[in-house]
Amino acid sequence: MPTPTDPRVPSYTPIGEVTIEKRSNNKDKPHQGKVLAAVQAHADDIPFFCAGLCAKLIDEGYTAYLIQTTNDEKCGPGTMGEAIAQNEREIEVLAREIGFKQVIHLGYRNHFLDEASPIELRARLVFLIRALKIDTITTFNPWGHWEENPDHTITGQAVEAARWMAGMGRDYPEQLACGMQPHSVKDLYYWAMRPEQPYNTVVDISDYLDKKVASMSANKAQGPAGAAGRRLKARLAAEGKRLPALDGEEEEADRQYIRLFGLQEYQRIGAPHGLQHAEPFYYIPPGGTFTGSMSGADIESYIAEHAEQLP
Ligand SMILES: [Zn+2]
Repeated sequence: MPTPTDPRVPSYTPIGEVTIEKRSNNKDKPHQGKVLAAVQAHADDIPFFCAGLCAKLIDEGYTAYLIQTTNDEKCGPGTMGEAIAQNEREIEVLAREIGFKQVIHLGYRNHFLDEASPIELRARLVFLIRALKIDTITTFNPWGHWEENPDHTITGQAVEAARWMAGMGRDYPEQLACGMQPHSVKDLYYWAMRPEQPYNTVVDISDYLDKKVASMSANKAQGPAGAAGRRLKARLAAEGKRLPALDGEEEEADRQYIRLFGLQEYQRIGAPHGLQHAEPFYYIPPGGTFTGSMSGADIESYIAEHAEQLP
């Protein structure tokens, strides 16, 4: 049994044969022309759960948008208004470090996303999927076990419904009347972030580690990473001590702290697959998870065998 002092050991659940996604060697950018959306509820979600994946997909050609559902008003120093403003500034830094083209704030209240109209949230996401022609989404697993934060569950469920409905021709006809087209999201990378949550894919993020570290460090207002390096350095200085690894500018101390203490989970996820650092995902490929569809080939072969000529 782990003791309270043990580092948290990821106990996510592998499903089937786990696929390993590595950096593409194709210099021609295999994902050129495709559009990615990373949908988070809070400023620290993308840095922890998918920053490496996003950096990789952008490097391979994706144009990417960062969509945030809440305003982070409960997580940061000062008043609610000051917390919102600081988080907004830091999300811009995160977006720049990873390479997102644009940040879109939906602005719902932090920790109270369940007071928002689910229909409105879904409609706004359908609008963005159609308008930006989003091909791939990474976000919370909508059915993830052990989730304590309602913002996470509701964001995941709203995205799941929106990505499905955006491709249909009769939902939100006013959008279509204004010139937009139905647009289907082709594939999904759902995050594994609580014990027992499933994954079927690990993404090698070793080449994108500096970007992931920078994104984790961007978030000073909340979370365990952000400004921890400079705080530890100040604490040690008050005790008359110094850690050489934390020498240098404050930002460098923050990033070095993350390299020293904030990446173990990604190492543990990668180790069984021979990777230095990896992020786990439940990947849903084009075609989705529905397995009950009827095969056109089966139908044609049945016709060939059984159809009779009309007189
Ligand atoms: Zn969160």
